[in-house]
Formats: sequence, structure tokens, C-alpha cells
Amino acid sequence: MKTEDSTIVILIGPPGCGKGTQGEILSEKLGNITISTGNLLRDEMKSQTSLGKKLRTTMCTGKLVDDQIVLNLLKAKILTEICSDGFILDGFPRNIKQANELEELLDTLRKSFKLVAIDVSVSDKKIINRIVNRYYCTECKTNYNKLYKNPIKKNICDVCGSEGKFAVREDDTEEIVRKRLKEYNKQTAPVISYYKKKGVLLKVNGDEAVDKVSHEIDSKLKKILTY
Ligand code: AMP
Repeated sequence: MKTEDSTIVILIGPPGCGKGTQGEILSEKLGNITISTGNLLRDEMKSQTSLGKKLRTTMCTGKLVDDQIVLNLLKAKILTEICSDGFILDGFPRNIKQANELEELLDTLRKSFKLVAIDVSVSDKKIINRIVNRYYCTECKTNYNKLYKNPIKKNICDVCGSEGKFAVREDDTEEIVRKRLKEYNKQTAPVISYYKKKGVLLKVNGDEAVDKVSHEIDSKLKKILTY
């Protein structure tokens, strides 16, 4: 028997749409963790294993990583206790195959899940400008942006308090972002129609400032979830 209903929120959108930041905000509100497959892969990349080296080559060309590799990392994470009350997905699924795999994976768990997908749409012009200005804390992965979100105390992470641990992602260059956008339009955009057909899609305008986007997500989610 499955026990009722934990929530899974899936954030879909092109690179730089703000899914990472909105995932952090939603995590606080829902009390669930955010799983970013990009972060899982970057952690793996840091290890100097042959898999880590292979990942660097793929990710730095803006291509998607092999489905099975991502799925294995995600499975390992989801099967930990902390995810049993639901979770937020940032960066997964990235294609229809992954969307099907996610469904199969959830079917094998003893819980039933209420799934909501949020399409954070944003114009290409904004994307490049946002991405070339972003950086993150390497300790806790909190995202920052030179244009609109710097740490309150210079050089100290607002969230974990680490000093001077900021870095720029290797794939956040204009050239690679353009390739990532192509991949998004070809492989990930169809996932939006997939969830629309299932009747679980919400759409928000990611062109707006962080607070406004978060407010729009909040008011749309509150119509279907209690938190
Ligand atoms: P992100 O941090 O979500 O922007 O992802 C950075 C990079 O990690 C992407 O450009 C892909 O190369 C890889 N990646 C992240 N999530 C996935 C996924 N679900 N499937 C395949 N590749 C992924």
C-alpha cells in the first residue's frame, strides 16, 4: 500500500531562468530539499575519476549528460530518507525519456506523489546577461549574481557563512550558454508539453525580478497545495 501524498515540484526552464534560485526559495517554504542534477554532476566532476573527467568534457560543450548516468545519481539521492516527504527537482527531467524514467522510479516507491511542474519562461536576451554575471558558493551551492544578488557581507556566503569560497561555473560562458540553449530548445522544451498534457503544468514569467517570480509561483502553487 502506498501512503499519501508527498509533493514533487519540477522546475523547468532554460539555463539562467532562475530555477536554482527559485528552488532555494521554495525549499524554505515547503520544507523540502531541492535536488539539482547539475549540482550532483558537478560534485561528481570534481572527483578526478574517469566518470568525473568524462562529465567535464560533456558539460563544457553544453551537451546533455547520458540519461543513465544522471538517473543513477538521482536515484541514489531520492532513495535517501530525507526525500520521503517530497522534493523539488531543478534540472530534471531534461528530455521525454527522463520524464518517463522519473515516473517509473516514483511508481516503485511506497509513497504516492503529487507532482507539479513549473515552466519558468524567460527571453533569450535576459538569459545571456544573467548567466555571464552569476557565481555561486562552492560550499553550499547558493547562487549569486553580480547584477542583483550579492552577499550581504562582502565575500561571505549569506547561507553557510563561508568566506571567499565563491566560483563561476565552467559552463557559464556566452559560447557554451548558446549551445545549452540549443539543447534546451531541442530536448527539454518538449517536456513542457508532456506535463501540460498531464494537466500538472503551471507557467510563470521568469523575466521578472526574483521576488516577483517567487510571488507568482507561490500564488499559483497555493491554489493546488497547502503549505
Ligand atoms: P544545470 O546546472 O541544470 O544548468 O546543468 C548543467 C549541465 O549539467 C547541463 O548543461 C548538462 O550538461 C548537465 N545536466 C544537468 N542535468 C541534466 C540532466 N537531467 N540530463 C542530462 N544532463 C544534465
